[in-house]
Amino acid sequence: MSSSEKCHAVSRLDYLPVGQLRALQLARLQELVRHVYANVPLTRRRMDEREVRPEHITSLKDITLLPFMLKSDLRDEYPFGLFASPMEEVVRFHCSSGTTGKPIVIGNTPRDLRIWRRCVMRALAMCGITRNDIVQVAYGYGLFTGGLGLHYGAEGLGCTVLPISGGNTDRQLMLMKDFGVTVIACTPSYFLHLVDEGMKKGIDFRRDMRLRHGVFGAEPWTEAMRDKIERLTGITAHDIYGLTEICGPGVANDCCHRRGLHVFEDHFYPEIIDPDTLEPLPDGEEGELVFTTLTRRGTPMLRYRTRDLSRIYTEPCPCGRTIRTFERIRARTDDMLIIRGVNIFPSQIETALLSIDSVLPHYHIFISREGDLDMLEIKVEVTAQTLSDDIKSLEKLRAKLSRAIQGVINVSAKITLAEPHSLPRSEGKLNRVTDLRGR
Ligand code: ADP
Ligand code: ZN
Repeated sequence: MSSSEKCHAVSRLDYLPVGQLRALQLARLQELVRHVYANVPLTRRRMDEREVRPEHITSLKDITLLPFMLKSDLRDEYPFGLFASPMEEVVRFHCSSGTTGKPIVIGNTPRDLRIWRRCVMRALAMCGITRNDIVQVAYGYGLFTGGLGLHYGAEGLGCTVLPISGGNTDRQLMLMKDFGVTVIACTPSYFLHLVDEGMKKGIDFRRDMRLRHGVFGAEPWTEAMRDKIERLTGITAHDIYGLTEICGPGVANDCCHRRGLHVFEDHFYPEIIDPDTLEPLPDGEEGELVFTTLTRRGTPMLRYRTRDLSRIYTEPCPCGRTIRTFERIRARTDDMLIIRGVNIFPSQIETALLSIDSVLPHYHIFISREGDLDMLEIKVEVTAQTLSDDIKSLEKLRAKLSRAIQGVINVSAKITLAEPHSLPRSEGKLNRVTDLRGR
């Protein structure tokens, strides 16, 4: 099978010749800037301070003339200060899940919702999902964008949707089995929880379920985690990316080549900046991901700083799509832990732990302080069979895990081996870090 046959697409916009794509982006950017300048006082003030007018945007490079937008702007202008369309044109609110504080609110016009749905359809098609699939949407429905985002995208593609939302794990498992569900959409940590609960009931995902695809996102997860999930269940685990401020899920998604996430850049123009100097970085360099919502009208974002760390790849993807790819999100800048003066991301710890076979994909990181010294403890679940090994073997495993951790983060950690099913699970996004310092 050729790669183009394996990677389906519903939109020719995925394959537009680059010149045409850039021209389309520029025309959309110019229109967007006019719209925002006319309707959002905060942005108009900031542009005036820089003496930038909409007509100064004559090339895509001129985007760097524009001010950034931050999550704090959404909070400061709460609730409707950044709305660029009158309320009678706004048909739906969404709020962020508030992982990092007070929620923010965005407004969608009917056109915003149509475009969002279309992007989720493109994302699902990229996963190889078709109208023949039965899709269990176990992302939360409601203010959170995950549920409704995946719902309308899957329906748009003609799939049969099971709109179950998050939680009620027993019911999820029962319907998944009885209905012959072929696609699950939820956070990777909730899927692990489903698998785990299933195992307790004697359900073997390979044997008892018809599941083929997982559409996982809304939280950082590593390649090592993807590998564990796929080996455990036999499904193909896809990565879908998005954030409330930009629309929700469906900003980007990986194709079957897994060379990063294709961003639907005809709608979401990506940039990478240095998070300290705020200077734009060339494609290929790692920094903070910034998006401009080229076509949104309810709450359009100009150069929105996501806090997510990534890099834009320079190599074209073998699937033939011309929309660019960026590296899977390694972390958010606000997830960074400073332990004994060393900058550490939980994803580094995850990669080190999950590289070891007997380790289950459930762990928790504890940071505390003893005197002046930061202490790192990692509790990680291992198989019941491993735990029944003799003390010497367990000691060896702990040492192996310690070395793996030390190897990637250069900080020593106390490793505690935990029983299966003993660490916290989540029905949505999972927090795997407890920082007891300063409490
Ligand atoms: P909150 O910021 O309150 O969690 P959202 O629900 O909008 O609000 O979450 C968006 C964030 O979730 C993104 O900025 C990113 O950090 C994370 N995220 C979403 N999808 C992915 C993904 N596929 N991989 C890694 N992180 C993701
Ligand atoms: Zn591709």
